[in-house]
Amino acid sequence: MRMATVGFVGLGHMGSPMARNLVKAGHSLQVFDLNEEAMNIAVQFGAKRCASLQEAAKGVAFVVTMVPTGKETRAVYLGPQGIIANASPGTILLDCSTIDVDSARAVGEAAKAAGFQMLDAPVSGGVMGAENATLTFMCGGEAKTFETAKAVLGGMGKKLVHCGASGLGQAAKICNNMLAGICAAATAEAMVLGKNLGVDPKVLYDVITTSSGANFVLQTNCPIPGVVATAAVNRDFKPGFKAALMLKDMRLSQDAARMTGTPTAIGAVATQMYAMLERAGHAELDSSSIVKLVTGDI
Ligand code: NAD
Repeated sequence: MRMATVGFVGLGHMGSPMARNLVKAGHSLQVFDLNEEAMNIAVQFGAKRCASLQEAAKGVAFVVTMVPTGKETRAVYLGPQGIIANASPGTILLDCSTIDVDSARAVGEAAKAAGFQMLDAPVSGGVMGAENATLTFMCGGEAKTFETAKAVLGGMGKKLVHCGASGLGQAAKICNNMLAGICAAATAEAMVLGKNLGVDPKVLYDVITTSSGANFVLQTNCPIPGVVATAAVNRDFKPGFKAALMLKDMRLSQDAARMTGTPTAIGAVATQMYAMLERAGHAELDSSSIVKLVTGDI
């Protein structure tokens, strides 16, 4: 793989291990985050700390951003202090955050108007995928940009998919996450129902993972204690993937459903369930804490 200079912005649960894997792969990283502690950790794994967003965006071949929502993506890319106004000519811009299609297209258009190639490149695979460099990247933008970006995306993920024009990476991601959110809620219901009927959760897990109800959420993040060692339920729901971010993605799916006139009845119910979880004060817990609505442990 060709080694590159990368400016990395957003060193949270996902961004930090993704940046670490780029350093491990031999890329040269300069990083920026609003959180000093996150930057201290990045310096420890070999990245260069930048004093500002503008400094992180300058003099690199690629800029990667991994921030929470469309609001932060717009904030880091647009305006006189943003990446687009401050990056060196020829820099390829990769936004890996999960955001609304409109913000992705708006930022993509602003980048194009300023002469930059850009991809929306959201990921799936969770923190574990970020740590093991096994993420799936769903990319929207020009094919030639996608081909060039493989040099960097390949250091953080295993499966790289070109979904089409700008914004279509986000579109694919939103569909995936609506399904994952529904699966997490449905998995919680099935596992608690089984437990209440007297089935040993480990036995039920064994049955379902090899039957027609098998799904990734159950396999990796079963919400009943003591079934899957690495599941968030075994560490007081420390995230992982925060319920707040799941609610954000579920709402994005419902915005997209309205925009296209698509009926998503189950998606709508699951969205309401995550909203109830947030209202109960659990937005910062792992999204698998949706099980609290079923157990009543709210
Ligand atoms: P996080 O909240 O842990 O991290 C976000 C980071 O961005 C924080 O460190 C924050 O300080 C930084 N940040 C915010 N605004 C900034 C700004 N203006 N300038 C610089 N830094 C800024 O979130 P996360 O879990 O890492 O998720 C990031 C994105 O990835 C989200 O869009 C999320 O939906 C998506 N995602 C998360 C997961 C997961 O399992 N956590 C999985 C797939 C996709």
